Amino acid sequence: MFECAQVAVPAATEQAMRFYKSGNLLWIIQNSWSLIIPLLILFTGFSSKMEKLSARLGKNWYFTIVIYLVLFILLYNLLNFPIDFYSGFIRQHAYGLSAQTFSRWLSTYSKELLMTIIFSALSVWIFYLLLKKSPRRWWFYSALVSIGIGFIFVFIKPIWIDPLFNHFGPMKNKQLETEILALAKRAGIDHGRVFEVDKSQDTKTLNAYVTGFGSSARIVLWDTTLARMKPDEILFVMGHEMGHYVLHHIWWDMLYTSVLNLAIFFLIYKSAHFIIEKYPKRLGFQELHQIASLPLLLFLGSLFILLSTPLSNYVSRTFEKQADRFGLEITQNNKAAAEAFIVLQKQNLANPRPGPIYKVWRCTHPPLGERIDFCNSYCPWKQGLPLEYGKDFK
Ligand SMILES: [Zn+2]
Repeated sequence: MFECAQVAVPAATEQAMRFYKSGNLLWIIQNSWSLIIPLLILFTGFSSKMEKLSARLGKNWYFTIVIYLVLFILLYNLLNFPIDFYSGFIRQHAYGLSAQTFSRWLSTYSKELLMTIIFSALSVWIFYLLLKKSPRRWWFYSALVSIGIGFIFVFIKPIWIDPLFNHFGPMKNKQLETEILALAKRAGIDHGRVFEVDKSQDTKTLNAYVTGFGSSARIVLWDTTLARMKPDEILFVMGHEMGHYVLHHIWWDMLYTSVLNLAIFFLIYKSAHFIIEKYPKRLGFQELHQIASLPLLLFLGSLFILLSTPLSNYVSRTFEKQADRFGLEITQNNKAAAEAFIVLQKQNLANPRPGPIYKVWRCTHPPLGERIDFCNSYCPWKQGLPLEYGKDFK
């Protein structure tokens, strides 16, 4: 094998292994509990009671739905609060990964809760209207509506939602910005697309990402990454992100999500009717178009999304591998790329060689060990071989 660089993968620290193992247990608890909560609300008949109360207070069809949603979301969050607080605040601080004060954590949590309520009040009624008007085709129309909502959401998220939580601006390091914009120009990305975000008030971990599409498309660099990585390592990270951008991964991801949506709504349709007919007394309602069915639909949706996780992760890892390849080809700096991953491993407390079950269920990116191996072995430009993405940049 041709050696492009010789960067050794550091072994995971004892702390990183503890974080990995306890994280797996937490993942199982979180996923089980988020499936148990809707079942509890459903099979205790509590959902049907909340519906009756909402109908009394709401008077009309739309407000019955909205009041039910507010009650349901508050109850769900209350039951989930211990796990949310532990995993999002206590645990992050225990491992030295968080930079958040308690008040900042609480304000972010409350804002997210409020956004969930507003977003649900604006959209959930559409699905209940479809359930009522089209008992046999609602799953198909619902999938189309959710795809449409997904598109709108991806478009507005970077311009309207993300700025509610953090500040996004041009890069502060002007010399590095010049280098990044020169790289972006080679990839055909116009300037004004690269943003720095002040994540250092939230976390000590590192990241960068591509978001939005059309006029809202952009590459975002966390300021923590800028503080911890050397300029040529950051350039590789940006090369990777530019790969996502140039290879239209957001569009491919939305296409994948659309197909998945259709499949999941169809499965919900098939199983929800079956469950309602089997337990009409226990549930306290007979029709799926009653808002009391929400926990049932949510349980089934979460279950099918969970079951499709290995496929979704596989799709994501494929995109990430392509972006790594693109980043290497455009920067042609294997050593800097491999070292960027080592900084990422240390700073994010990652296990570079997780087990196969972890990879299938949890890894949206190839494990860092594999990514470093790839940096050490992929450099066709040094061997006179053609580049995979030679056409995509200058
Ligand atoms: Zn990526």
